[in-house]
Amino acid sequence: MDRSLSLITPTGRLTLGNHLGALRRFVAAADAASSPDDCFFGLSDLHALTTPQDLAVLRATVTETATLFLAAGLDPARATLFRQSRVPAHRELAYLLECTAYTGELNRMIQFKEKGRGVPSTRVSLYTYPALMAADILLYRPSVVPVGDDQRQHVEITRDLAIRFNHAYAPVFTVPEVVTPRAGARVMDLQTPTAKMSKSAATDAGVIRLLDPPDVVRRKVARAVTDSDVGPDAVHSSSEKPGVTNLLDILAACGGSADGITTYGALKSAVTEAVVTVLEPLQKSYAQLAADPAYVDSVFADGSARAREVTASVLADATAAMGL
Ligand code: ATP
Ligand code: MG
Repeated sequence: MDRSLSLITPTGRLTLGNHLGALRRFVAAADAASSPDDCFFGLSDLHALTTPQDLAVLRATVTETATLFLAAGLDPARATLFRQSRVPAHRELAYLLECTAYTGELNRMIQFKEKGRGVPSTRVSLYTYPALMAADILLYRPSVVPVGDDQRQHVEITRDLAIRFNHAYAPVFTVPEVVTPRAGARVMDLQTPTAKMSKSAATDAGVIRLLDPPDVVRRKVARAVTDSDVGPDAVHSSSEKPGVTNLLDILAACGGSADGITTYGALKSAVTEAVVTVLEPLQKSYAQLAADPAYVDSVFADGSARAREVTASVLADATAAMGL
C-alpha cells in the first residue's frame, strides 16, 4: 500500500472545511491501512512560525488540534500521529534541501509573492519554507502525494528538488507523483462565498469551527450570505450563486438532502441540522479527550518517536550523499 502523509499547520482553530477536506479523509485512509506505518499525519508546528504568533495561542491551538485529530476518529493503532517539531529530521533535511534549491524557484512561490515579498519584516522562513515542506514529504518516501490545486506548486517544487538532488548526489529520494483527487468538498466562507473557508481567516463570522456549539453554528449559517433573488426556484437554480451553492455543497457533504427545499430559510435550517449532526459526535469525543491531555500527549509522543525512526535513514542517506 502507498503511504499517506499529510500535515496541518496550527495557525488557527480547525474549521468545517478542515474536517470535510482533510481530517475526514485522513480517517478513511487510516481505516483502510494495514499498519500505522502506512499513514503519517502531523501537526506542522514549524510552519506556523513563518509568521508571528502569540505563543500562548499557538500552544493552545496545538493542543486543541492534536485533540481534534483523535476526536475526529483517527486511531493511533492505524495511523502515526506526530508533531513536526519533535522530529528534528524535518529541519535538518530542510537545510540540505535549501542547499539544493535556487532562489529563482523560491521567488516564484505564490505564498511568498503574495504575503512576504517586499515587506522588510517578512521572516526568512516564509521564503525558505518550500524546502521544509519538501523535507516533510521526502522524509517519508510516499510515491504519491494527493493535494488540492492550491498545494500543487509545493509538490512540484518537491519533485524538482528530489530529481535535482538524486541527479547531483545519489538516488536518495523517491520522486513523488502529484495526484489531484476527484474534487472533494471545498467549503467556502459563509460571508465571502467566493473565498475558501480558512482557519486563519481575519474574521470569524463566515467560518464554522469544529468546536462551535450548535447555537453558534445556527447563528453563522443563518447569517450566511445568500443571493438576492427569492421565489420557488431560488434554491435550485444556483449555478451563478456562490452563497447558495456553498450551502448546498455543505449540506450534501454533511449527509443532508435539499429535496423539497424551496426557501433559503428552510435550506439554512437543513444545513444547520446536517452540520450539527456531523459535529456532535466529534465534540462529545473531544470533551472526553480534553479531560485527559496526558493521553493525547502520549499518542503524539509515541507517534513522533516512530516518525524519528522511519525518517532517520533517509536523513542519514541524504547527509552522506552530500559529502558530510
Ligand atoms: P490557513 O488559513 O492557515 O491556510 P486552512 O484552513 O487553509 O488554514 P491548511 O492548513 O492550509 O488549512 O490545510 C489543512 C487541510 O485542510 C488541507 O488538507 C486542506 O486541503 C484542507 N482544507 C483547508 N480549507 C479547506 C476548505 N475550506 N475546504 C476543504 N478542505 C480544506
Ligand atoms: Mg490553507
